[in-house]
Formats: sequence, C-alpha cells, structure tokens
Amino acid sequence: MLDILEQALNMSPAAEQRDDIWARLCCEQALLAASENNYGVGAVLVNQRNELICDARNQVFQQSYQSQRHAEMELLNRLETEFAHLNRRELTLYVSLEPCLMCTGRILLSGIGRVRYLVADSAGGFASHLQGIFQQPLPPAWQNLASAVVIEPAKVQDFWRDFAYDCIAQSATQMRGQVVKAWKGTEKGSR
Ligand SMILES: [Zn+2]
Repeated sequence: MLDILEQALNMSPAAEQRDDIWARLCCEQALLAASENNYGVGAVLVNQRNELICDARNQVFQQSYQSQRHAEMELLNRLETEFAHLNRRELTLYVSLEPCLMCTGRILLSGIGRVRYLVADSAGGFASHLQGIFQQPLPPAWQNLASAVVIEPAKVQDFWRDFAYDCIAQSATQMRGQVVKAWKGTEKGSR
C-alpha cells in the first residue's frame, strides 16, 4: 500500500489550487510517518509571505508509545524552540488531517493565526467544532482563544485530499491495536 502511495506521489498533478504546494509537503510527511509505522499524518508551518518555516510528522511510536507526538504537536514544539522569534498570528499551520481535541487545544494556546487541514476527520477531528455556535460549550477563556484563530479546509485538488486520507486510513486500524496494547502496559521496560 505504501509503495502505491509513493508511486502516486511521483505522478501527482501540477499545483493548481492555492494550497496544493503545502498539501504536497504535508502528504510527503504523512507518507514518511506511515512508513515509520506511525499514524500517517504530516504538517507544515508557513509564514505570511507563503514561505516554509518547518515540517513535522506523527511520531507516537517512534520510541515507546508517546501519546502527545502528533504531527501538530511536533510542529509546535519546533516553532516554540527553534523559531520562537516569529509572530504566531502571522503563521498558517497546514496538516493532512483535521486536528484532534489535544492538538486543537495546543494550537489555541500556541497563538497560531490560521489552520488549514486537508481531510476532515468526522470520527475524531475537533478543530472544525470551534467555529460559530460550536464555540458556545467552551469555557470563556477557550472561546476567546478560539475566536482568534481561523480554522478551515485547505483549498487543494482532490488528489491531495485522497492521498492524505489514504495515508491515515492505511495505518489507523493497526495503530489503534498498538495504542490499546500500550495502554495496558504491555510495553513496560521496553523502548
Ligand atoms: Zn492530534
């Protein structure tokens, strides 16, 4: 399956839509993550001049199970350590899959101005729930944080949306089994 995705990447269409170029980088990171037996999710950070700042990928099983190592979290770690001088409100975070509950919270705390995701995650995505009336259930401080960030689907060709979906879909079932195993402590003492 990964071979097929790698071949597809080599035959990807030329950039047409606004976010195609960043979609490609997200998908390359997602494929790399999947090939390393992690969740196939990738992310990049871009400044207001549409220049790349840094990239990251899911690494939850890079060593022993580390639940926080989602692509967005890794990306924000890099921002806050390597690029701390940048104005967060001017940055756009691109990610191949809609951010989860944990990452959405971290994004709000990070001060990032804009998030664009390739594939909506109806089962586990949280970021899209921050818009409009969905802010209402949030405590006031979080409503305030949520009002300062724009979260929207990226404008990309279907090729990239399909690619991003395939990257996560091919790894999700196996990953879930590994997570449940880690929760039970079966990996105690091993790395
Ligand atoms: Zn996440």
